[in-house]
Amino acid sequence: MSAFHREKVLSVRHWTDTLFSFTATRNSGFRFQNGQFAMIGLEVDGRPLLRAYSMASANHEEALEFFSIKVADGPLTSKLQKIREGDTILVGRKATGTLISDNLIPGKRLLLLSTGTGLAPFASLIKDPDVYERFESIVLVHGCRQVSELAYGEELVARLRDDELFGPLLTEKLSYYPTVTREPFRNRGRITDLITSEQLFNDIHQPPLDIATDRIMMCGSPGMLEELKVMFETRGFLEGSHSEPGHFVIEKAFVER
Ligand SMILES: Cc1cc2nc3c(=O)[nH]c(=O)nc-3n(C[C@H](O)[C@H](O)[C@H](O)COP(=O)(O)OP(=O)(O)OC[C@H]3O[C@@H](n4cnc5c(N)ncnc54)[C@H](O)[C@@H]3O)c2cc1C
Repeated sequence: MSAFHREKVLSVRHWTDTLFSFTATRNSGFRFQNGQFAMIGLEVDGRPLLRAYSMASANHEEALEFFSIKVADGPLTSKLQKIREGDTILVGRKATGTLISDNLIPGKRLLLLSTGTGLAPFASLIKDPDVYERFESIVLVHGCRQVSELAYGEELVARLRDDELFGPLLTEKLSYYPTVTREPFRNRGRITDLITSEQLFNDIHQPPLDIATDRIMMCGSPGMLEELKVMFETRGFLEGSHSEPGHFVIEKAFVER
């Protein structure tokens, strides 16, 4: 049995010159937990060229969705960014990852902290009714350099707000906080600074960080994750894993090569 399924690309959308998203068919046997990732890619010269990708779709959805970077000289994304409807992609049969609710101790508020394509696993998680059951409130933070890089997330949240099932849940529980570092915007600054200064909590009119109630998932650049990890550990938060749930869990949005 092959290690991956062959899926058909259903749609492709380019958001900026460095970001695109696409949907693909989903094999009925491909199961995953919201927030997980799988190896996906293309067949190049008769061989699979695969990279880790978070599913941006939720596990109750029929099609798969991915939110991708375009690295100009990247072995995979220099080619993947050219895919069109009807093309074939490879999707590994096994999904894995730490960004799942079971890896967190029960809490009241869930902070989803992301930069760049690190938004992808949270795009899946905010479409998970179970997450809204477990937490009284959810704060989705997405940090980017430029305003244009927020577009995928902004549209996703707007669409969910109009959704019959999720609309009321989002209104009641979700605070969406996009922020940029390199251009004027209503929210500015790096996630670490926004938490340390409590600006984030002031802006969304919620109480500051509290280990008794807050649980955190983060996905972004390795540098940002390292800073956040130190910041949370200094405040007594413990990292969770499959073997032992904790106050926070981490997934790298990419690895520096
Ligand atoms: C657990 C996990 C989940 C991931 N999920 C996603 C995802 O949902 N979407 C996605 O686009 N990528 C994701 N990645 C990164 C992905 O695996 C590839 O690195 C990316 O597709 C580029 O592949 P490449 O072969 O073109 O270049 P690579 O040789 O893999 O990367 C070249 C360089 O590009 C930079 N880079 C790679 N990926 C990114 C990125 N996403 N954002 C910013 N800089 C990057 C890094 O500096 C890297 O060293 C994930 C990585 C991990 C480890």
